[in-house]
Amino acid sequence: MQAVDTLTPCPCGNQDSYTHCCGPLHEGGIARTAEALMRSRYSAYVLKREDYLLATWHPSTRPASLKLAAQHPSPTWLGLDVKRHKDDGEHAVVEFVVRLRYGGGKAQRMHEISRFVRENGRWYYLDGQFPED
Ligand SMILES: [Zn+2]
Repeated sequence: MQAVDTLTPCPCGNQDSYTHCCGPLHEGGIARTAEALMRSRYSAYVLKREDYLLATWHPSTRPASLKLAAQHPSPTWLGLDVKRHKDDGEHAVVEFVVRLRYGGGKAQRMHEISRFVRENGRWYYLDGQFPED
């Protein structure tokens, strides 16, 4: 376990500290919105919390493993920009752009439109589309 409770701002880019933003969700708290879940999933990629990523992935689309620890070079996460969040309480769409870099490579953009579904009061990541832009 990394010592993360002093991370400010939160890895997701929120000016709040990790302990007041994504940290509680990583410890089993309930995300109130799909956007909050999405942000916590981004932070989980930053912190290599594969357990959390799999736990918040809907069972119908969840991979067996992400093998984050085996990624070489592992990505350096440079930032998250949430563009749009649409939520009807049961289904949600979050559009965002992530910037990352592999090793000493150039920074890249990853644009994703993610779908989320809520079951038994919890949001789950369903799948994503990657628009050309
Ligand atoms: Zn956060």
